[in-house]
Amino acid sequence: MKLRLFALLWLGVGLCWQLPTVSAQTPTPLPETLPAGLTIHVVQRDENLFRIALRYSTTPEYLAQLNGISNVTMIQVGQRLLVPAGDAAALPFATPTLAPTLAASDTNANLSAAPTFGIHTVAAGETLFSIAQQYRLTVNDLTAANNLVDATLIFAGQQLFIPGSAATEIPEVLPAPLTEITIKPLIFTEGETGSIRLITATSVTITGKFLGQELPIIAEANNTQHSLLVGIPIYTETGIYPAEFVITVADGTKTNYTLNIRVAGGAYTSQSLTISDELAPLLSQAPQDYELGLLQRLTSSFTPERYFTGAFGLPAAAPMNSPFGTRRSYNGGIYTGYHTGADFASAPGSPILAVAPGKVVLVDLLNIRGNTVVLDHGWGVFSAYSHQSQLSVQLEQMVMTGDIIGMAGATGRTTGPHLHWEVWVNGVPVNPLQWTREIFP
Ligand SMILES: [Zn+2]
Repeated sequence: MKLRLFALLWLGVGLCWQLPTVSAQTPTPLPETLPAGLTIHVVQRDENLFRIALRYSTTPEYLAQLNGISNVTMIQVGQRLLVPAGDAAALPFATPTLAPTLAASDTNANLSAAPTFGIHTVAAGETLFSIAQQYRLTVNDLTAANNLVDATLIFAGQQLFIPGSAATEIPEVLPAPLTEITIKPLIFTEGETGSIRLITATSVTITGKFLGQELPIIAEANNTQHSLLVGIPIYTETGIYPAEFVITVADGTKTNYTLNIRVAGGAYTSQSLTISDELAPLLSQAPQDYELGLLQRLTSSFTPERYFTGAFGLPAAAPMNSPFGTRRSYNGGIYTGYHTGADFASAPGSPILAVAPGKVVLVDLLNIRGNTVVLDHGWGVFSAYSHQSQLSVQLEQMVMTGDIIGMAGATGRTTGPHLHWEVWVNGVPVNPLQWTREIFP
């Protein structure tokens, strides 16, 4: 716990180094004791921050932040960097394809994502302008990211860093009948929630698709206000993805509208857990897939009524001891998945609270999650509470924020008593803590 706190404090210090007052690339002093979950990487010849980030399954932005680096193109051979612990070579996840080689063969190509960051090796005949266009960036974006003095002086074989952190741009002029678009936040992040709101001058019907999925859209204000929530699956590659809308006006005329939304990588780390022999059979993929499938089906249903308003409360009066998104390996095995919720160190028997108003849609003893309650908050948003010792709600029951739904325990696959809390948006597990800080839509 102390170590964890120290890590958080230390990260806090790292963030402060990002203040613009830091001018030169002063070598970051490394702490005497390594914060939990981090290790040291010594920069090798031919390495850049992007390649190092790939190796440790993180993003260049996260490494830059962690190490107080203000210019991601400027790292030196022999420089010692803090990186997430865990042998990246053991990760079974597909290594992200280096931009711009995302091609037809890439699994994400059907999402027609434009690669947005990475390293671009300049080919003969290319100009900074043509490269910028390819990544939907401006020449200024590229010159700034690469410290280029003269935008006309680039050469074949030169490696350019492609920044991916610019926010989604909403066009100033929108095609009728659209009058306004609001995107929150302006850059979506893998494993988090985003919302889009479209305002139209007249009453219309809108359907939408994003990341290959049809999205439920809520129409309000006499069909002139259209809201949608998006759960961005973890492992969504950084890139620009089109949100494709079809707007149908009263006489049946259809207008297609595409909004290009940036998705950034999340700063998730990895963790190794040990569980007893008795529970080891549950490590096989089958029960995990079964439960994920169950929750996915349950949370893919859509209640048009919205029960929640404002930010979510916390589900327990206990410190969070394991965040969402951490890649996990059990008993020294390979990293087989990620943490689909946030854990709270709740003492056995302490109350578990509903985080927002909702309807109870599942009360069950599951193999991995143990005693679990799932609440439907409407608009495709659900919360789940697992490992409880006792459940005190019934199916179909309506609950309010702060209502006691059960007691903390250690049922299911767990290393000890705690609450495992999940939030699902349209069938996608997302970072639940974001819902306690941000108001959607
Ligand atoms: Zn958990």
